[in-house]
Amino acid sequence: SDLVQLSPEDTHALDRRHVFHSWSAQGALDPMVITKAEGSHVWDGAGNRLLDFTSQLVFTNLGHQHPRIVAAIQEQAAHLCTVAPQHANAARSEAARLITSHTPGDLNRVFFTNGGADANEHAVRMARLHTGRHKVLTTYRSYHGGTHLAVNMTGDPRRWASDHGSAGTVHFFGPFLYRSRFHATTEAEECERALAHLAELIAMEGPQTIAAIVLESIPGTAGIMVPPPGYLSGVRELCDQHGIVLVADEVMAGFGRAGRWFAVELDDVVPDLLTFAKGVNSGYVPLGGVAINDEIAATFDDRVYPGGLTYSGHPLACAAAVATIRAMEDDRVVEHAAALGEEIFRPGLVELADRHPWIGEVRGTGAFWAIELVRDRETREPLAPYGGASPEVSGVVAACKRRGMLPFVNFNRIHLVPPLTASASEVREAIEVLDEALSEVEQQAS
Ligand code: PLP
Repeated sequence: SDLVQLSPEDTHALDRRHVFHSWSAQGALDPMVITKAEGSHVWDGAGNRLLDFTSQLVFTNLGHQHPRIVAAIQEQAAHLCTVAPQHANAARSEAARLITSHTPGDLNRVFFTNGGADANEHAVRMARLHTGRHKVLTTYRSYHGGTHLAVNMTGDPRRWASDHGSAGTVHFFGPFLYRSRFHATTEAEECERALAHLAELIAMEGPQTIAAIVLESIPGTAGIMVPPPGYLSGVRELCDQHGIVLVADEVMAGFGRAGRWFAVELDDVVPDLLTFAKGVNSGYVPLGGVAINDEIAATFDDRVYPGGLTYSGHPLACAAAVATIRAMEDDRVVEHAAALGEEIFRPGLVELADRHPWIGEVRGTGAFWAIELVRDRETREPLAPYGGASPEVSGVVAACKRRGMLPFVNFNRIHLVPPLTASASEVREAIEVLDEALSEVEQQAS
């Protein structure tokens, strides 16, 4: 076999010599070698077992090496590895049927992509052609992908270096009560004022120039800000009022992460286009897509859709999606994630916040939780600056890893985003590790 077996040391050395990594200065990198993974755990090059509460980049929704997904990929590979996108294939047809059986409303068609960024690029292209308009409104504190338009739609520091021209991309503020820019003190006030802000922005930009509003149903990497009840449905109403296409980016929040198949369900909203990736097949083979409603699909009944990808609907990726979705249905994974959120995460993290003054807020739903770390609960000064790091936050993360738990970190926030299949005791263990790590670093700092 050509299967490569390198020692962890050789793996690291070759990586440093030949691999160019995402979003990083290359010189100072020290990537963790992962030699093995199973369920909620990964093993590093030194043989340490770590509880993976990152789900890598929030995509291994059914955990590592899920036997049903592995078998589906193996069987599909043995049978038919690949076909061109213009042909039909059983894995792709069945994946599309299963996906659209869970998407809300009349999102009945799927255009498959390789990941989330290209899904968002195509969603905007469809919206522009459908409406004949060009502008796209997106939120600050968001991430939509690393390609040209997707990174320009993004509302976080990852956009800044590439901020030289995707004409017509306009940013607005979504609701975020803890750091309200609307001076709101209740969720209802935040919701009402955020919607008034968006309505004003639409009026100022000219509704007839706006093709789409693209927003993460729950902003993910930017902070897991679950929108207040009424916000997403309020945005839906504004879109209806002005003939604007509503695109829900469910790349991170979708496929069970939020304790629902899709996070738009939290506010009973049906978007016109819904983009997905990551959890659709637990990230085992790259796959993303746009779920398209009947009206927009009909625009392209007679008119050519001017876009495509060599690997659109790749059979190996689609076979992994079929197995993932069927396993989610059979094992009631979405219900399990919802219960983990309400029964273990919420009470556990609220209790943790009682004992650690650095915890300014905990928020989340399902298997999708953020802990906002602050220097001072009154001023809410972040424990690391926006767009940056600090010794304290890095110290907490390092202390978690030393104790065998891998958390997801972004600026001053720690996210706990395990596989949806994590057990209640694994979640309790992760919270205990975080508790000890916070105590250790708080003590050093005092
Ligand atoms: N949209 C959201 C909400 C995401 O979280 C991500 C990735 O983290 C993307 C889009 C981009 O997806 P990809 O990296 O697969 O292009």
